[in-house]
Amino acid sequence: MLKMKDECEKCHAKTALTDIAFICSFECTFCEACAQKMACICPNCNGELVRRPSRVKSPIAVAAAQVSKKLFGGK
Ligand SMILES: [Zn+2]
Ligand SMILES: [Zn+2]
Repeated sequence: MLKMKDECEKCHAKTALTDIAFICSFECTFCEACAQKMACICPNCNGELVRRPSRVKSPIAVAAAQVSKKLFGGK
């Protein structure tokens, strides 16, 4: 599972799980404003910063849904 950081590494703005944030493949996390200022290039690893998929459910809720799908049909 992707580690979801809740803070921009540059300006320490909050990037809550449901907020728009940008990450690189090493999971450096930046807010939208910083990512745009850096032209979507990670200053730590020079990797491409991409929009982080937002997470609207808690991991526990998702795990429960996955289990119940497995038990009660649906492939
Ligand atoms: Zn920032
Ligand atoms: Zn990086």
